[in-house]
Amino acid sequence: MSDKRVYVDAHIHISLNGENSRKLRAEFKEKKYDSLKDILCQYRDNNILILRDGGDNLGMSLAARDIAQTLGIIYKTPGWAIYKKGGYGSFLGRPVEDISEFKESFKELLKVRPDHLKIILTGLVDFESYGQVGGIFFTFDELYYMIQSAKEKNLPVMVHANSSEAVRMAVLAGADTIEHGYFITEDELYLMRERNTVWVPTLSPLGNIKSCDQRYSGQISNIQRIYEGHLWKIKKALTIGVRIAVGSDAGSYRVHHVTGFFDEVMHLQKCGISKDKIYEMSFENGIKALGIKVNQGTIP
Ligand SMILES: [Zn+2]
Repeated sequence: MSDKRVYVDAHIHISLNGENSRKLRAEFKEKKYDSLKDILCQYRDNNILILRDGGDNLGMSLAARDIAQTLGIIYKTPGWAIYKKGGYGSFLGRPVEDISEFKESFKELLKVRPDHLKIILTGLVDFESYGQVGGIFFTFDELYYMIQSAKEKNLPVMVHANSSEAVRMAVLAGADTIEHGYFITEDELYLMRERNTVWVPTLSPLGNIKSCDQRYSGQISNIQRIYEGHLWKIKKALTIGVRIAVGSDAGSYRVHHVTGFFDEVMHLQKCGISKDKIYEMSFENGIKALGIKVNQGTIP
């Protein structure tokens, strides 16, 4: 039994490395897995032993799951995410146009033994204009169908959703976790509490670039505003008792593996909660997000 605290990062992308992922992805295509193994070893060495991936289009997270097992890491992956043809998500998953294409894709997906289903319902936060997320890609009926299909196979469902409308739709359709959830309102927070939905707010992608980033130099004030607004919602969520899991979105720009988790903890501290409380919350709600039951003391 370990006396060291085990950490859970409930939202990572092993197929990306926080800067320029091209090299990492090219190596994988050549069947070179050393970099993947290195990243996972760093997670292990920092006691981040429970990870949930958001999927990729190359099978990297599936390979990572196999490697993770040899390192004593609990690693959950959706295989690939489901996204709308023509919409956002090409490097994270496979596209579907409609329900009949989803049925085909889901049949294929089940063959790689996914641990959960990941659905990309909206695009990314637009740093140019406050509140824009690029629309909602699926109808409620499509989303509901996909989520219920996963539930029939006992798979939890993570939904990437920004905007109050998209988050509401995802929660009502039965999503187990809401990823990002930028621009949600108090109404969705109450709904999430009522439905016991876990929220993974991923502050780091914005929080880590807000200071002095060349790439976003013209958008810093907007990013700062979105980040502050998100912090405020998280604070509110904690007050009313919404379950929040710590997910860094490691792999996305400026969010590096391993340090991303501690960045996310640092950002969450700005809501006025102690580090210890965040660690507790990250474990309890993190394992709920992964759909597993383990205790701190029983993880090797
Ligand atoms: Zn992500």
